[in-house]
Amino acid sequence: MSVRPIVLLGDPRLRLKGLPVESFGRFLHGLLDDMTETMRHAPGVGLAAPQVGEALQACVIEVGDRLYELMNPRIVRAAGDDRDLEGCLSLPGFYAYVTRREKVWVVAQNRHGKKIKVSGSGLLGRALQHELDHLDGKLFIDYLESMDELIPIGADEDGVEGADTEKAARALA
Ligand code: ZN
Repeated sequence: MSVRPIVLLGDPRLRLKGLPVESFGRFLHGLLDDMTETMRHAPGVGLAAPQVGEALQACVIEVGDRLYELMNPRIVRAAGDDRDLEGCLSLPGFYAYVTRREKVWVVAQNRHGKKIKVSGSGLLGRALQHELDHLDGKLFIDYLESMDELIPIGADEDGVEGADTEKAARALA
């Protein structure tokens, strides 16, 4: 396992749509292991393959000591709305309030190609939506009307240290 460089905003690879994962062998397992190590090292709660330069429909999420490895994931059901702070490892140093669905149900495949189902609300629900967006080349800033809505780390909207920032620091994905 190794920590890979994270692709940052401005790199066109972040905007590529991930290709479906069709091979569940050694290459994929090595990629997933590296993505998990890279996510933990950052640290963050999720990481998508395009963020390490691989245009594949694969992502990892770790919330509440549970690691999810999702290939070819898709949202099959969603409920409610939730507005909260969100950050991205590909855009370090900034957060923004993003409205997401409150709970989502996802169908995916695990590292062996077996069909799995994951549902989540709160941080897990947000991470699922954030990572699935990455697989479509979409970033959380695409939901903002203006880049002025970005909040620098260590400051709330008034430019003062705020508890919200600490919360958002756990939501990097
Ligand atoms: Zn991200």
